Amino acid sequence: MSIKIAKFGGSSLADATQIRKVKAIVLSDPDRRYIIPSAPGKRSEKDQKITDLLYLCHEHVRQGVAFGELFAIIAERYREIVQDLGLSLDMQPHLEEVRENIADGATADYTASRGEYLNGIILADMLGYDFVDAAEIIHFDQRGRFDQKQTHEAIRDRLKKHERAVIPGFYGSRPDGRVKTFSRGGSDITGAIIARGVSADIYENWTDVDGLLMADPRIIAEAKHIEKLTYRELRELAYMGATVLHDEAIFPVRQAGIPVNIRNTNSPERPGTIIVQDAAPITHKGIITGIAGRKDFTAISIEKALMNGQVGFARRLLEAVEKNDINFEHMPSGIDTISVIIADSELEGKLESVLEDIEHDVKPDSVEVDPDLALIATVGRGMAQTPGMAARLFRALADANVNIRMIDQGSSELNIIVGVNAADFELALRSIYDEFVE
Ligand code: ASP
Repeated sequence: MSIKIAKFGGSSLADATQIRKVKAIVLSDPDRRYIIPSAPGKRSEKDQKITDLLYLCHEHVRQGVAFGELFAIIAERYREIVQDLGLSLDMQPHLEEVRENIADGATADYTASRGEYLNGIILADMLGYDFVDAAEIIHFDQRGRFDQKQTHEAIRDRLKKHERAVIPGFYGSRPDGRVKTFSRGGSDITGAIIARGVSADIYENWTDVDGLLMADPRIIAEAKHIEKLTYRELRELAYMGATVLHDEAIFPVRQAGIPVNIRNTNSPERPGTIIVQDAAPITHKGIITGIAGRKDFTAISIEKALMNGQVGFARRLLEAVEKNDINFEHMPSGIDTISVIIADSELEGKLESVLEDIEHDVKPDSVEVDPDLALIATVGRGMAQTPGMAARLFRALADANVNIRMIDQGSSELNIIVGVNAADFELALRSIYDEFVE
């Protein structure tokens, strides 16, 4: 029998109607043996996520403000789900225990994790699956770093005894037993870790979209669906803004070569997007996989005569950036010029200080600051070793009268990144899409 891990996001578990869809999906395939739920998400645009409400409860207690009314909203949500599903499960003792612990000053991590915990209890009851508390199998070390070795041993030992189980996402425990959560959206990571731990055949990530699109549909309304891409391509697209899976969820499954299938709980008949090994054969030469981009970058450009003959110039420049605790994105260079591209969020409040350090440490002939830069990545394994791809891209931008301010091609030839004026962002994206996608 093969093993499928199915992780369901908050919108797939927001209410009884959604949870019934989840039940139908799980029970339609006996291979779906380990189920990872998120906490109930929003039922509508204006609704609240349970996780957000729980964080708020913790904040109330921290500030010495009564949280009873807030908790009552959370409790009611779970009670309503159980009732609407027609389950005979009594949530009261579980809710009471959580409420008491929060009142006693439980940590933010413990408090937030109860969203998944309580949802897991309901789901296990409804599916007739065992409930396995993630705190018993997902381990962190004393300093709060994920402990891969201990976790894998625990998953293997424990899940051997459970042919089918629901394991709440988002959290695990430290050596002293205290709950620790991953970063927000971290149930994706739990799913990937469990998939790796049981050597699953596939990791299904059920959400409310059909998978990844070739471009942001807010800019390219008719953007095509991506059927298949590699982990590396996903990393490139995700880094540039295409979000569908938590960043850190890729690594556990990638190491083990387990494919990830992004699926839509609201349209389970659709195949979704499948993410496969980096070494998967390229079937479409000269074809791109997707385009993604982000605005709000600044270029700091430095000119210095005979720069390229000076040993350590780039190092000194990057040290000046690092000193200010700034993370940079790219560093294109010419003979006597070099630029550092930095996201505006990183630079906030630090521009003056980093410029001073550059003046002092690098002694440039001139420094120029160019804000309002947008970066666009055109990604695709099919582009590698295909002559003419860059020429087509640049011609498309030239024909649209878009000025290219920066070019960067990764050594894997998996992507070409161009920097354009933020005002040209949408036009540039459209031009590239039209050039490469029929
Ligand atoms: N419930 C958590 C959050 O809202 C984790 C998750 O949904 O993946 O961030």
